[in-house]
Amino acid sequence: SAHRPTVGHRSPRSVLATKAVQLLANVGSLADAQEARSQGAEGIGLVRTEFLFEGRELEPSVDEQVSTYRSLIEPFCETGQPVTVRTLDVGSDKPLPFVNLSREDNPALGVRGIRLVNQVPGLLERQLEALARTRALVGGVDLRVMAPMISSIGEVNSFVEMARSAGLGSLGIMIEVPALALDFRRVAPLVDFASIGTNDLMQYLMGVDRNASMLGELLDPWSPVALRLIGALAREGARAKVAVSVCGEAASDPLLAIVLVGLGITSLSMTPVALAQVREVLDAVSMTRARRLAQLAIRQLDSTAARHVVGEAI
Ligand code: PEP
Ligand code: MG
Repeated sequence: SAHRPTVGHRSPRSVLATKAVQLLANVGSLADAQEARSQGAEGIGLVRTEFLFEGRELEPSVDEQVSTYRSLIEPFCETGQPVTVRTLDVGSDKPLPFVNLSREDNPALGVRGIRLVNQVPGLLERQLEALARTRALVGGVDLRVMAPMISSIGEVNSFVEMARSAGLGSLGIMIEVPALALDFRRVAPLVDFASIGTNDLMQYLMGVDRNASMLGELLDPWSPVALRLIGALAREGARAKVAVSVCGEAASDPLLAIVLVGLGITSLSMTPVALAQVREVLDAVSMTRARRLAQLAIRQLDSTAARHVVGEAI
């Protein structure tokens, strides 16, 4: 179709051939990790650890967590591929029986992600301990650990401190809250990497519930405002030599993937089934062209125009 680049041959200067971008998988179960392997993911960009905790009457023991992380991580250790684990991201909309949270009218704006730290003493420490023990058991794994829903420098510092004292090394944060995104110049030097969660970033940027289908159009990550913000994050990351990836759904849209790479994003993490299509498209586009398309997209007035102009240019 007119919205697909000419593919079929690998250009020697394509963004994949030059290794300008890594294609990683989002996983939320052991089965997903298998799927990531078979789809040829270059590693895992996001492990949603909620699957270990959901539907449980009691918090899984550290031993049990270690055993699950180990099964998940082991297949990726020989190759030295990165495995990026996100600490628990739940809130009152995804209640856990062993976590005593009061009901909130707006759970998306409430106690979720890293904000649970002060509500449930020990929960994050035990998860970090389990991850550190897993890393000690599984030799050679490139284990990275990141925190969700970070909204201030104070939270960055306390997460990093907590994870370091657990013995963990490569530490990052999700960029999902606009205030943190706008302060990224000061945040970047404090972390080893950052990953943009476009699902929540769009929700908080636009003030639209990410599950509100009636307003879904406003959540479109092709929004030139969102793209300019992502471009600024990539620039600040490059300045601080901190890799900035995208792990929200936006990364699985092949045309948008070109734009994200053109904005300077160095890894894209997506649902494993999307990898083949994104790989095919990025195999046929040079970095120069990706940059040009990104510049074209950010100059448009709205998401429809941005998507259209890139689709036509391809
Ligand atoms: C996101 O917010 O974009 C993200 C990747 O995390 P989740 O969808 O799990 O909130
Ligand atoms: Mg999120």
